[in-house]
Amino acid sequence: MAKPVSHVVTRPGRRQGDADVTIPVAEELATVPGIPLKEEDLSFYSRVYPQETQNIEKAADREWVWTVYSDEMADYRRYHDEVSEPLIDAAAVSGDLEPTGTPDPELNVTEAIRSKARELGFNEAGFTKHDKRFTYTRKKRWIKYPHAICLALEQDYVQTQSIPSMDAEYAHFGTYEMEGAFLLDLADYIRSLGYHAQVHSPNDNSAPYIPMFVSAGLGQLGANGQLLSPHFGSRARLAMITTDAPVTYDEPVDYGIHEFCQKCQVCANRCPGRAIVRDKVWWRGVEKNKLIYERCRPVMARYEGCAVCMKTCPIQRFGMPAVMEHYVETGEVLGKGTHLLEGYTFKEKGYHGPGELPQFDRQFFEIPHGRKEDWLFEQFKERLMKEGVPEEGGLQEFAQQVKVILDQGNSTIGDE
Ligand code: SF4
Ligand code: SF4
Repeated sequence: MAKPVSHVVTRPGRRQGDADVTIPVAEELATVPGIPLKEEDLSFYSRVYPQETQNIEKAADREWVWTVYSDEMADYRRYHDEVSEPLIDAAAVSGDLEPTGTPDPELNVTEAIRSKARELGFNEAGFTKHDKRFTYTRKKRWIKYPHAICLALEQDYVQTQSIPSMDAEYAHFGTYEMEGAFLLDLADYIRSLGYHAQVHSPNDNSAPYIPMFVSAGLGQLGANGQLLSPHFGSRARLAMITTDAPVTYDEPVDYGIHEFCQKCQVCANRCPGRAIVRDKVWWRGVEKNKLIYERCRPVMARYEGCAVCMKTCPIQRFGMPAVMEHYVETGEVLGKGTHLLEGYTFKEKGYHGPGELPQFDRQFFEIPHGRKEDWLFEQFKERLMKEGVPEEGGLQEFAQQVKVILDQGNSTIGDE
């Protein structure tokens, strides 16, 4: 018997010119627009325990991944880093560029920017306050303008279904490369309207972008830790532009995802690293499913970015309208338990259908932790325990290694 519907969400089509889509949200899935939030907790944690980019906080394992990448993966990552560098450099100074046009008081700036973004190829564009509570410590002084334009670019459908594979990685990083260029074009357009625009590169993130996408109504947070957007779930690559253009903010939306994930759980069932925690917890003022980084990273690094949690998500595979309609009609999760949705192949380990997971020994999960200097210190402590205090030369060698890391300045480039 069909489930009673709480409300119906209407969203623009996937591409500019496509018809609007409607998404019925079953009564039992309705919670709050966006995500359950305790504002005072969020403010407290961001003030007392501000976040830093994983490229600094987890730099030790980010260096380690290169030692386990396949040759093809290492070559491709080097290529991606090389082509991204000029885009990252251009984004870094984009906020200093002056407007090239004069503001037109008659123009609906919000809709003009949204329309231009869609024309350039972005599938989703939304507006919200730029919330500095999420900004990484390293970027706090870099931010110049108060309004955030949240922009999502879809990653290829067919390539994504081959996850984990190099083909899917070409889609993943290739989308970021395209997005980096589109962002610079959109920023130029905003300047031509008479306003400033600062590009937040998807390869040199200024913050976790998902919370602002949720505030702008572009989706809700899935149990897999990814933004589930209406048309393509987490198969989207996210970036932002901040501006002083007088835009009107969008509102957060309840798509029913917050509750739906608790009923679905496909990503948690299928995660080869057993990294997705099933029950939600309150974390830095937000109620969400947490992911155990140390159980995910070793799998991601060795198996072409893994991303089984993206591939097996029904919202990614079928789109939110189809999944939510099916739930209203049947009370079931579309595709759950099928090979089509849940099956994947891991190199050397073979095909795994519903209910089957690859096995790894404990050693597989041992990776370096923390910043590079933390990891070096850990190794030094181990050496002290095993070999005692080193001669002067050994101490100097350690000091030299720490100095090299500090001189590198903890580069933030290389966000994934
Ligand atoms: S990337 Fe793979 S290991 Fe990591 S959470 Fe997703 S499914 Fe699990
Ligand atoms: S697979 Fe299911 S539980 Fe996981 S994010 Fe997608 S909808 Fe949510």
